[in-house]
Amino acid sequence: MKIKIVDKKEVPALIDRLIERYRVFAPVDAGKYARLMEVASGSEACLELQNPKLSSKEILFPQTEIILRIKKGEEGLETEEPSENDKDWVLFGVHPCDAKGLVLTDKFFASGDYKDKPYMDKRGKTSIVGLACNHPRATCFCASVGGSPFGKEGIDILLVDLGEEYLIEILTERGERMIEGVHGLRDASDDDMARAEKMSEEAEKALQTDLPIEGLSERLEGMFEDPLWDKVHLKCVGCGVCSYLCPTCWCFDIIDEETSTGVERIRLWDTCQFTQFTLQGSGFNPRPSGKERMRQRTMHKFCYFPKEYGVLACTGCGRCVRECPVNQDIRETIKEIMSV
Ligand code: SF4
Ligand code: SF4
Repeated sequence: MKIKIVDKKEVPALIDRLIERYRVFAPVDAGKYARLMEVASGSEACLELQNPKLSSKEILFPQTEIILRIKKGEEGLETEEPSENDKDWVLFGVHPCDAKGLVLTDKFFASGDYKDKPYMDKRGKTSIVGLACNHPRATCFCASVGGSPFGKEGIDILLVDLGEEYLIEILTERGERMIEGVHGLRDASDDDMARAEKMSEEAEKALQTDLPIEGLSERLEGMFEDPLWDKVHLKCVGCGVCSYLCPTCWCFDIIDEETSTGVERIRLWDTCQFTQFTLQGSGFNPRPSGKERMRQRTMHKFCYFPKEYGVLACTGCGRCVRECPVNQDIRETIKEIMSV
């Protein structure tokens, strides 16, 4: 493993060098919040901002995406699947919780017999430059769900902000390839590494939540009919913000839209928090109230997904806690479940 140092002033040039070979997506200042967007120049990237409001999911699994075009040809219907045949991609400045979110997304879209082509086309060509989280927010709880502010899961190169410089930890062959030909780096010294280690320890200490997660999945298995579900959903207005912002919510709908030349098949985000998500053509809805919908989201993250894939479907990024308009707090739900 190679560990280098780059002066912060050199980072725009480093990104420019990457842009010569990759499409680069980095956090940019989108007004009131940061957003991961494609950048045409390293000077557009802003690594000093807090974690973007939307996770990296929106790049690889966009909110709306054409997955098929259908038109009438001379010999009947012709179909075309849009594909990404351009350069490889780099997601730059991804926080460890969101990099882990992509690892979990891979399990959903790419394990088992069926591989989701629109997602895999993009994911297969994407490298991740992570950015360690020196200052976790009060709503972050990554360490409680198996992550860490300096976590490396799913990351090819990890940047650590040392103040005037970044420590660059090259973790994979993809990381090696990205850094090839980049100038202005020096080898990290023992002192640099000790500083990074100290920051990692401080970030872990700064995490304010220590959730009781041990045995949560097993406990939930016997709680489908528990009276707890009658009350934990009461504040929820079913807006779906928690799911849309969550790096580990992947429900989608598919619709066909008529165009001047035929039909476009479009995939768009959906959520189990919407009333119509499970509404059947007959009018029957197996999840008719917020109770069933909140139970579903909680069960999926902490019971069904772990049962299927052996890991919780939550990275502790805290977005659902921060952005919920009625202050529904998933950490409080977990505590209530564990206290039953
Ligand atoms: S963001 Fe809050 S109010 Fe909206 S669906 Fe999620 S829990 Fe309910
Ligand atoms: S459930 Fe909430 S805290 Fe967990 S990954 Fe989703 S948005 Fe982040």
